[in-house]
Amino acid sequence: MTAITNHMPTAELQALDAAHHMHPFSAQGEFEAKGARVITRGEGVWLYDSDGEKILDAMAGLWCVNVGYGRDELADVAARQMRELPYYNTFFKTTHVPAIALAAKLAELAPGDLNHVFFASGGSDANDTNIRVVRRYWEMKGKPEKTIIISRKNAYHGSSMGSASLGGMAAMHAQGGLPIPDIHHINQPNWWAEGGQMSPEEFGLARARELEQAIDEIGENRIAAFIAEPIQGAGGVIVPPETYWPEIKRICQERDILFIADEVICGFGRTGNWFGSQTVGVQPDMMTIAKGMSSGYQPIGGSILSDEIAHTIGQDEFNHGYTYSGHPVACAVALENLRIIEEEKLIDHVRDTAAPYMREKWDSLTDHPLVGEAKIVGLMGSIALTPDKSTRAAFAGGPGTAGLICRERCFANNLVMRHVGDRMIICPPLPITPDEIDLLAERAHRAIDETHKRLNEEGLMVAAN
Ligand SMILES: *Cc1c(COP(=O)(O)O)cnc(C)c1O
Repeated sequence: MTAITNHMPTAELQALDAAHHMHPFSAQGEFEAKGARVITRGEGVWLYDSDGEKILDAMAGLWCVNVGYGRDELADVAARQMRELPYYNTFFKTTHVPAIALAAKLAELAPGDLNHVFFASGGSDANDTNIRVVRRYWEMKGKPEKTIIISRKNAYHGSSMGSASLGGMAAMHAQGGLPIPDIHHINQPNWWAEGGQMSPEEFGLARARELEQAIDEIGENRIAAFIAEPIQGAGGVIVPPETYWPEIKRICQERDILFIADEVICGFGRTGNWFGSQTVGVQPDMMTIAKGMSSGYQPIGGSILSDEIAHTIGQDEFNHGYTYSGHPVACAVALENLRIIEEEKLIDHVRDTAAPYMREKWDSLTDHPLVGEAKIVGLMGSIALTPDKSTRAAFAGGPGTAGLICRERCFANNLVMRHVGDRMIICPPLPITPDEIDLLAERAHRAIDETHKRLNEEGLMVAAN
């Protein structure tokens, strides 16, 4: 195998990177002091960098490399498709085989009557499509005043103007004039941080009922849809209490609003089912998909619509589309990725082997004095770092006091684990083996130990009040 490696010393690459390449969600100036890690190659759950280090990627890239790195089948399909038809659009009454085949496959996999796929290049633009679809749907139904979409604080739905508005990230809204009008945010079901004296069950119900209260206050005649991730990913892998989703389901059934499940992370095997909404037991009217749909080998996303919505908006021209909607190479690769997930029985592997084993290891991290709670569903998990677990305290030093140190200690131990504030999160490739899970847990434990030591040394194990 010929490995693609860097052809320059790491320091030179880093200098060029700092000078010319702008990184997402980063303070660009910081790269001048310390360059970015240069990743050169991947194989299975492993990454290699320009210094020759071998790193366990417990984040599957950015929650997306579901089948793992180094899959020749996906490269071969891409090359074949590029030679045959590298590009054609699906505007103006044309189509092509990869888009047809992928749409039909997705319709087969998606639950209920979610049978119609509108393609995008990622999750952000798919959620922009969703905003337009639900507003158009109600217009076609003769209810044009139903425009408001209810979402949740600390949700992540993407980075475009529309999708970042749907999202509930305060730091994003603080820049660039967000959110756009007619997006309303209710509170998230994050019991650890916000549950106060309530039991998780009471808190789950209370947070779900905020949806009902919002509908009553704003007026059902104004609400188009509710959007949510079955399990919040970028918000810190927030697993809601058991009572949350059944109550949301009841409210959505009783009220005349659409439910959009953002399955960009939860979809394609991550939670031990094809889709996260199956794991939490709700049937959406629409789904957002991306990331694991192609395991990140090609940029592709989409919206899957119910029969009712697709037929309604299909009665007239829907003035919306992207140049790369249904890109043939991306579609061909996504289809092959779904074949791999299916034929290698990766979802069975997650449900029956990897997730139960990972859960055992993950739960045992709570024996550590720095770890308050451990949450995991399928292969997406989080732990809360805390100076005092008896009170679920936050750090006096503010959000990220421990998380930032821990992420850095993970890196130093050749483990990629991300932090959101003081939650550490994992989302490894689905084929991860028990041996690799052992390594992941060992390295995580060591990184947590080192973090704890640092926090103690620097006098940072102090609870906020
Ligand atoms: C990543 C993500 C998105 C945005 O997808 P992009 O491909 O980055 O545009 C949307 N929703 C969720 C839940 C995500 O995790």
